[in-house]
Amino acid sequence: MIVAKFGGTSVGTAQNIQKVIQIIAGKQGNSIVVVSALGGITNMLIKASELALQGDEAYIKMINEIESRHIEAISSLFGSKKNGSKDFLSGQIRHLSDTLKGVYMLNDLSDKSLARIVSIGEILSSFIVTEAMQTNGLQALLQDSRSLIKTDSNYSNAAVDYAQTYKNIKEFIKNNHIKIVVVPGFIASDTKNNTTTLGRGGSDFTGAIFANAVNAKVLEIWTDVSGMFTANPQIVKQAKPIETISYQEAMELSHFGAKVIYPPTIQPALDKKIPILIKNTMAPEDAGTLITEKTEKDSTIVKGISHIDQISLLTLEGNGMVGVPGISKRLFGALAQNNVNVKFITQASSEHSICFAVDLGDAEISKKSVDQVFEYEILQHKINPVVVENELAIIALVGDNMKSHQGISGKMFSSLGNNNVNIRAIAQGSTEKNISAVIAKKDVKKALNSLHAAFFENQVRQINLFIAGVGNVGSKLLDQISRQQKFLREKLNIEMRVVALSNSKKMLFEEEGIDLKNWNGKLEAAQDAADLDIFFEKVDQLNLRNSVFVDNTANEKVTDQYEKYLKKSIAVVACNKIACSSAYPNYLSLKSLSREYNAPFLFETNVGAGLPIIDNLQNMVNSGDEIQEIQAVLSGSLNFIFNHFDENNSFYEVVKKAGEAGYTEPDPRIDLSGVDVMRKILILVRESGVKMELGEIENASFLPVSSLKAITVDDFMKTLISDADHFNELRERASGKGCKLKFVAEFNRGKAKVGLKEIPAGHPFYNLDGKDNIVLFYTNRYTDQPLIIKGAGAGAEVTASGIFADIIRTINK
Ligand code: ADP
Ligand code: ASP
Ligand code: MG
Repeated sequence: MIVAKFGGTSVGTAQNIQKVIQIIAGKQGNSIVVVSALGGITNMLIKASELALQGDEAYIKMINEIESRHIEAISSLFGSKKNGSKDFLSGQIRHLSDTLKGVYMLNDLSDKSLARIVSIGEILSSFIVTEAMQTNGLQALLQDSRSLIKTDSNYSNAAVDYAQTYKNIKEFIKNNHIKIVVVPGFIASDTKNNTTTLGRGGSDFTGAIFANAVNAKVLEIWTDVSGMFTANPQIVKQAKPIETISYQEAMELSHFGAKVIYPPTIQPALDKKIPILIKNTMAPEDAGTLITEKTEKDSTIVKGISHIDQISLLTLEGNGMVGVPGISKRLFGALAQNNVNVKFITQASSEHSICFAVDLGDAEISKKSVDQVFEYEILQHKINPVVVENELAIIALVGDNMKSHQGISGKMFSSLGNNNVNIRAIAQGSTEKNISAVIAKKDVKKALNSLHAAFFENQVRQINLFIAGVGNVGSKLLDQISRQQKFLREKLNIEMRVVALSNSKKMLFEEEGIDLKNWNGKLEAAQDAADLDIFFEKVDQLNLRNSVFVDNTANEKVTDQYEKYLKKSIAVVACNKIACSSAYPNYLSLKSLSREYNAPFLFETNVGAGLPIIDNLQNMVNSGDEIQEIQAVLSGSLNFIFNHFDENNSFYEVVKKAGEAGYTEPDPRIDLSGVDVMRKILILVRESGVKMELGEIENASFLPVSSLKAITVDDFMKTLISDADHFNELRERASGKGCKLKFVAEFNRGKAKVGLKEIPAGHPFYNLDGKDNIVLFYTNRYTDQPLIIKGAGAGAEVTASGIFADIIRTINK
């Protein structure tokens, strides 16, 4: 004999009921089939009762909906075939209407009536399923479980009288030799034969009660997912079905919210060591999950992660608790008296406070009853009134083998900490089958996903990017990400997703990651107008793990946003130089926020595009070296310009060409005035540990007065033509001495300066080609020969690669 329970989705439509029939038809021996109400019907019955109680006539509409859901199933199951289901439905609907009318008129709804009302869901489904089986030629008998399962009179969550119930079921089976017995799940009756229910999700429990009574070979729970998953598959996309799991582990997971099995189900099966098999009605070929006794073979350490939403945390605190025996007894006694189920308890060894968690709905009565019990101590100011905190959740890590492994809780809490999930309370029983933590409800999704990644996903790390600026550099970055995504996944176990994009006009968010093949079109078609504050709010609300804000703009307003991101532990990667070259206190504040909130703030591309200049500099400083002197050519743009400026190409033409190729800033004056190089040397000086402002840097400009005075970019470009002689003279003077012109930045003895220099042959700067950059660091360790970093220092492609590298660095830091 086997017992097979089919849940709400499994019997929710005619199509699914046919699948149920096929599954049962394929069984060899006898079966007891337990069915839930059609999916969603129990909720609708409860809602209709509430509406009627509130005097809202919408309850009638709800009855009609309930009726039509069943008519739809009946019509497609039986078509024009003769059937009793239709009349049975009419009778039950009439009964429901009468009862709810009574509730509506009397403005009264007792638990007893509610149990009677919700039982209609299972009464209907079991009738329809039985008749459908019979119509398909199966030998099936319907038996109302209310005449077999006996309970107390706690109507909504009744306690089973096992002795009586098992006796009834055994007798019934002995007297009825039928291949298939169909019974409604969830419902039972008390000693006076009033209908009671076994609690929400209770049909699983019905199945276990029958399985125990008949010594079933197996209890099959047929549902809408392919087993018990490593985490709720609706929240964690990467979750996988667990092959086998022990009764204890299944019990822990279900107690902590794995709704796939109702917690009381396990005990009756465990008492008789009956295996429970969770299967998917919609995919019967999938293996599912087998719940059995723990085997030595099973060495999995963490089996699953689950959570309970809507938790309140209550804290009782005060000096009057220290060393006083009986406090816990009074506290939990008061809760028990009020039928409050305590989900979580912690007490520090100082005994100064006890912290416990209950369902949100129980918070008020819990506070009231505990405050009452400690009324005297509260009046004496020895204990404070209970403090209640809401909007919380419990997450739990479950596994029988956790006790024999170190480092599990360390890994759990560091993974949560790295993702800015604040832990309010922690509990771990001495059996170590479960480590649980109370966190904010809003963090549940992020917490479950990061824990899942840490414990189950072969260390696949997800990076979620929020990108501002899709111009020259930004679009190259998106190209590179798109090309590299597969490689990152396969070789580095990194899942890089672009979740949001913004240009100056529009912004686009796609939580599952934007398809980079067509980001352009999608951004253009996006609904939302660009707004930096709303952009931040959305990032914050999404609350995804390993989030990185990427600034590819040259816009000061964007840099004003960094602080907010860092304070949420969101990493910031920027090629925008404005933040790091702004006023020193601002730079310093961003650096310390980054440290305080454990959020990387990376800006390697601020100096020398993709060249690893800042990273090396930071490594030297962090390892105790001191920077004595810096000599550098830091403007790829100016280097390009002076390398191409000769007798055949006028200064104006070269500047124009550099602009068109994207080697200069959109406003070339930022490069030619030396301001860009000033910012770069300033950043290097600051990263060397020296406090300096931009205004302290000496800048001997090579531009003539007319160029410096020009107001618009166009005017400025014109002065390059009118003052051509000035530039030619600079060139000729240098070449006359066998020198080349280079725009050099220097830092020495606490002072920094930038300016055009004549560089003689043999100097390391002399042969600097194209748009290359070079930096010479003289330090305590590099005294005679400097550390030299040299290479392509400008251009969108190399800058984008530098940003890419910084993004990867955010998760390796
Ligand atoms: P049924 O109506 O068949 O009893 P339920 O809705 O009660 O189905 O339970 C199945 C649902 O449980 C799944 O659809 C899934 O959303 C949810 N669930 C939560 N946690 C888990 C988990 N760890 N594994 C599988 N399902 C889970
Ligand atoms: N129909 C009941 C409920 O929705 C029982 C069950 O489905 O297990 O809670
Ligand atoms: Mg269920």
